[in-house]
Amino acid sequence: MLLSDIPALAPYIKLTHYVWPYTMEHQPGVCLGSEEQRCYSPQGKAVGGSSVVNDMIYSRGRPQDWDRIAADGNYGWSYDEILPYYKKSERCELRKYKNATYSGRDGELTVENVPFRTGLVEAFLAAGRLHGNPTIDYNAPDQLGFGYVQTTQNRGHRLSAAKAFLHPHKRRKNLHILTDAKVTKVVIEPQTKRAYAVEYLKNHIKHTARCRREIILAAGAVGSPQLLMLSGIGPKEKLEVLGIPVISDLRVGKSLYDHIAFPGIVFKLNSNNASLQELKVATLSNLMQWLQFGDGLMTTPGLVEAVGYIKTSHSDGKVPDVELLNLGGSIVSDNGGAFRKSLKISDKTYVTAFSGLHGCDTWSAIPILLHPKSKGCLELRDNDPFSHPKLYGNYFTDPQDMETMKEAIKYVIKLGESEPFKKYGAQLYLPSYPNCQSHGPGSDSYWDCAIRTMVVSLHHHVGTCKMGPPNDPEAIVDPELRVYGVDGLRVVDLSVLPHTISGHMTAPALMIGEKAADMIKKIWSNVVV
Ligand SMILES: Cc1cc2nc3c(=O)[nH]c(=O)nc-3n(C[C@H](O)[C@H](O)[C@H](O)COP(=O)(O)OP(=O)(O)OC[C@H]3O[C@@H](n4cnc5c(N)ncnc54)[C@H](O)[C@@H]3O)c2cc1C
Repeated sequence: MLLSDIPALAPYIKLTHYVWPYTMEHQPGVCLGSEEQRCYSPQGKAVGGSSVVNDMIYSRGRPQDWDRIAADGNYGWSYDEILPYYKKSERCELRKYKNATYSGRDGELTVENVPFRTGLVEAFLAAGRLHGNPTIDYNAPDQLGFGYVQTTQNRGHRLSAAKAFLHPHKRRKNLHILTDAKVTKVVIEPQTKRAYAVEYLKNHIKHTARCRREIILAAGAVGSPQLLMLSGIGPKEKLEVLGIPVISDLRVGKSLYDHIAFPGIVFKLNSNNASLQELKVATLSNLMQWLQFGDGLMTTPGLVEAVGYIKTSHSDGKVPDVELLNLGGSIVSDNGGAFRKSLKISDKTYVTAFSGLHGCDTWSAIPILLHPKSKGCLELRDNDPFSHPKLYGNYFTDPQDMETMKEAIKYVIKLGESEPFKKYGAQLYLPSYPNCQSHGPGSDSYWDCAIRTMVVSLHHHVGTCKMGPPNDPEAIVDPELRVYGVDGLRVVDLSVLPHTISGHMTAPALMIGEKAADMIKKIWSNVVV
């Protein structure tokens, strides 16, 4: 689909039926500027999952993230053990770092820099260097700093997981891809506790697909726990209330972690043509350029041009606790269009706070909390597979998260006020949010209110089917991703990650897929069924 292919249109695809439009349960005091004051967290609904609608940023997290997961009793998941799987799927086409030892060259997934760059990205990187952040390959295991964004694009076109991994094999005789089908349940024999079939609806007709070996659930961090619970795997007391017979009493959905971000730091520039304003990007000649050569302004994914990792005073010292997403513009670059609509920032909040900047050149960097201490959870709403589960973000319930976000905001302001942005005449713009008007602009309480108004989810949910050793009371799957208490059922998606990592989630999701494929081949290659 053309819309999905064009990186610059990433915000638009999030407004289509290619997403499950999940909304978090109402939480007093957060997402105050969102529609219905509820945080929005869609997931991809397509063959290829969220990789069809995401922003294409490729990042792997730090080695220490994976070593920590392994140290918790998850054998096989240390950085050294997972690195081969990152490399396996990657075809690295990065300009400077193509031949790095930690990059893959022969995989299906092209990873490339964005061919077009504004001067603002150079200012961001220069400002980073001034403040001690070298310009690096941010996926290098031994370096921390800022770098040009790396994307899952192929010659300027989105490369979804479906295009990279499935399309080349879709004619294989032993592969059946069913589109527009909704899985409603995994069928498990109650006595033997063996999973043997999947029920699904297609064209309103119920079908059953039986398996000979095992069932792999890969419905994502919202879909997989929902399906497990609908199938009788989950907290006994909750399932019984919903009349679902219990097969395995596990704490499914007990933890839900996410990356949250603040898109409200905007610098007004006194230039005319420095940022990626929509009127400049959405032109016929840019479209033709992209169609013909796969380059030009249409290749910047949702304005993102660079990524930086920093450690605030709240970090554990081992891994960065904040990521900065550097934009070639800001939330106002399309004058209140798809960018803010895809975040479900309400008309009232947006217009009051930002419409004064329409038509202006702007710059922004979005701070992201990489390791929020606040823990959410997921529950079934009812026993209808078509109901959205209840998602509780519990954002900022641990006060340290607010302090980390405020420190990150101050850091971005410091970057924007530094020398490299002077030539753009960058001036911090302090929006007047409808609900923050009693707070002095720029005061500590102003930022508190601004964060509570504009916080958004990055849709990076993990932890709902947590992986852990047998002695972990919250573990749902073992380190080989097999569901405890049930035979023949594995979960292979981001729901198994016990906590967030210091990066985005597509690369880890694909790595988990590669690693699971090896586990499955190892078990079954010598077995005749
Ligand atoms: C808008 C958005 C932007 C993002 N941007 C980035 C980014 O720039 N970089 C990055 O690294 N990460 C990004 N992410 C996150 C990343 O894309 C996801 O975390 C990752 O793709 C999740 O992989 P997964 O395999 O766990 O689940 P998914 O990719 O979500 O796949 C789950 C699949 O299961 C299907 N499914 C669920 N339930 C059922 C059911 N009952 N029956 C049938 N099918 C079902 C879904 O439709 C979906 O196709 C973004 C995510 C979103 C939503």
